[in-house]
Amino acid sequence: MSADALLPLLKSTFGFDAFRGRQAEVVDRVMAGERTLAVMPTGAGKSLTYQLPAVALDGCVVVVSPLIALMHDQLRGARAAGISAASLTSVDADFAETRQAYRDGQLDLLYIAPERATGEGFRALMEARTPALFAIDEAHCVSEWGHDFRPDYRLLRPLLDAYPAVPRLALTATADRHTREDILVQLGIPAEGLVLAGFDRPNIRYRVAPRVSPAKQLTDFIVANPGPGIVYCPTRDGTERMAAKLAAATGRPVAAYHAGLDPERRARVQHDFVASEDGIVTATVAFGMGIDKPDVRFVAHAGLPKSIESYYQETGRAGRDGDPAEALMLWGADDFARARMRLGELPEARMAGERARLNALGALVETVECRRALLLRHFGENPPERCGNCDTCLDPPKQLDATVLAQKLLSA
Ligand code: ADP
Ligand code: MG
Repeated sequence: MSADALLPLLKSTFGFDAFRGRQAEVVDRVMAGERTLAVMPTGAGKSLTYQLPAVALDGCVVVVSPLIALMHDQLRGARAAGISAASLTSVDADFAETRQAYRDGQLDLLYIAPERATGEGFRALMEARTPALFAIDEAHCVSEWGHDFRPDYRLLRPLLDAYPAVPRLALTATADRHTREDILVQLGIPAEGLVLAGFDRPNIRYRVAPRVSPAKQLTDFIVANPGPGIVYCPTRDGTERMAAKLAAATGRPVAAYHAGLDPERRARVQHDFVASEDGIVTATVAFGMGIDKPDVRFVAHAGLPKSIESYYQETGRAGRDGDPAEALMLWGADDFARARMRLGELPEARMAGERARLNALGALVETVECRRALLLRHFGENPPERCGNCDTCLDPPKQLDATVLAQKLLSA
């Protein structure tokens, strides 16, 4: 069945009138049983490309997903759409029932963590009933080139290969050319199986500036941006200190969020932020995944992000409603110095990837050319030379500034 033929099901199950971006193409491939790697930006709607087949196909779609919290968000969404879905994770108490429901063919969608998917028990379950599709979410985790390598993802291959007739769909938002090629090889997907959707987020205005006086710089930025926003800080302490400073300086509601807070507090901050029209969260990177708030008006970085992929993913939380949004990154030579020190502590195998990642960030902060063009080229696109909606396009830096910046970087 083609994606077009599934339009009525798309409407009745999910309430959507049309496919978005390249969803239809991915669904077409999945329904034709072809192996596919879908690379689409955050918010593009990747989940739908296996959830719709889950409803349309006979049999169960098995989804490998790396984070329990993320899985449970997805599960809630799928169940709300009336899909018969369950998960097998260490925190699911209804383990036996879920397995039985799978064996009895009652499930359309089964979420599982990679370390469980590669275990004996799960193999036996797959023996009892062949799945309709393997979906591997956050597939960059399979690659050492990716920014979030998970060794467990490497063990998926034997499971997939045990069922060569079952189609596989790998999904990720963040993969540069290297990582993409690696995912294809690692998961046994042919090169023509790559569906690469546009990464451009034209409504986000990118700005990058040297960090001089961060509280003051961020205050000015926030005052100019009355809507809700996120300020990413490099450390847990940093989120708390920055929250206090920004609350005092701007009079806006500001809450800190990091993994060291108790779960109730975290849930509360997240809940209040989603409901708020002017709230700000100062957060570590622990904040953001699985938060569905389309009207985030700005994302700021008080320090260098981990990689271009992380930067893209984090700034991508701004302006998902398509209205104008701002991204500001403040960086210092000390950020690069620290990152370089950490390089030295890494195992040999990861060093090259991490160094390339750091160099790419260096190129982003020191470029005098269009920031968007640099970002998009990083993801393998071929963008126009100037976007007209980033700091370097709007206010072209003088060559002199760039030289000074470059010297700062090199001397760090
Ligand atoms: P991703 O995993 O690519 O980041 P999600 O699968 O979480 O994105 O989907 C992001 C949002 O887009 C969800 O709120 C989802 O309901 C919505 N969405 C997905 N497909 C469509 C569509 N065809 N039309 C409208 N909204 C869609
Ligand atoms: Mg997703």
